[in-house]
Amino acid sequence: MNDNEIPLAGVIGSPVAHSKSPILHGHWLKTHGIKGHYIPMDVDHRDLESVIHALPKMGFVGVNVTIPHKEAVLELADLVTDRAALIGAANTLIFRKDGKVHADNTDGYGFMENLRQNVPDWNPEAGPAAIFGAGGAARAVIAALIESGVSELRLANRTRARAEALRSEFGPKISVYDWVQAGDMLEGAATVVNTTSLGMAGKPELRIPLGGLSRDTVVTDLVYAPLETGLLLAAQEKGCRAVDGLGMLLHQAVPAFERWFGVRPKVNEALRRAILA
Ligand code: NAP
Repeated sequence: MNDNEIPLAGVIGSPVAHSKSPILHGHWLKTHGIKGHYIPMDVDHRDLESVIHALPKMGFVGVNVTIPHKEAVLELADLVTDRAALIGAANTLIFRKDGKVHADNTDGYGFMENLRQNVPDWNPEAGPAAIFGAGGAARAVIAALIESGVSELRLANRTRARAEALRSEFGPKISVYDWVQAGDMLEGAATVVNTTSLGMAGKPELRIPLGGLSRDTVVTDLVYAPLETGLLLAAQEKGCRAVDGLGMLLHQAVPAFERWFGVRPKVNEALRRAILA
């Protein structure tokens, strides 16, 4: 890219008006003095293919992908990373100089980095992980935890069949619990993760008996609005270390920004303040 070119990136989805990514990447562009832009783009599924082919011709170096296009872009990309293929969805596209479209999924990376940054002595191999939920976000969390060497993964989902399907796909490290007995998963768990949308503003709370939690358990919630969910507050009361979901959102953006703009940005308090403002 020469000095006269202004690199463009953005997020494609529908809807995209609520996305925090423009603030996030905009903050880093400003911090690093990069003359680029990050733009939210509402794209209908019928236009997805033509949009993806047009964007590189317009100066785009890549885009984030959000609902409902995260699965469909895998079919349109020339190269798909192993982790995106395993998760079955991509959240990041890189438009390479050779014209190829490269699809990746950085949600699992974001999940792991958030825990590592907030609980530096957290060790996924220290004991079983208990996961609530079996949707798209759960797939990224499960893939990342398995890759990091977790010995046992306990999984409960309201729709049990979806949890069973993940067990078939990801293998015997996963044991499936009934949703009504999800509290049983917490006994001896080193890591507890809420990947459901319960606890989000406007949704019911995640109501699981937390008697099985111990002080050593690290509890995290993917929900970040509100930042302190009922689960995190209850975990803190029990003396557990609780990590909110905002950091995952921030960290998943780091590899994309680096690939697009050539600088590895930092996740710090200034970025959190910018997002929460
Ligand atoms: P999804 O694919 O639609 O899955 C939703 C999950 O929530 C499913 O397991 C679903 O269970 C469960 N659920 C929804 N309503 C429920 C209810 N009333 N009772 C019990 N379970 C319920 O969504 P997703 O993409 O996985 O996202 C899940 C959450 O993670 C969202 O809040 C999203 O904002 C958040 N997220 C955060 C980050 C981050 O960076 N922090 C990244 C990705 C996602 P069923 O299968 O039974 O429907």
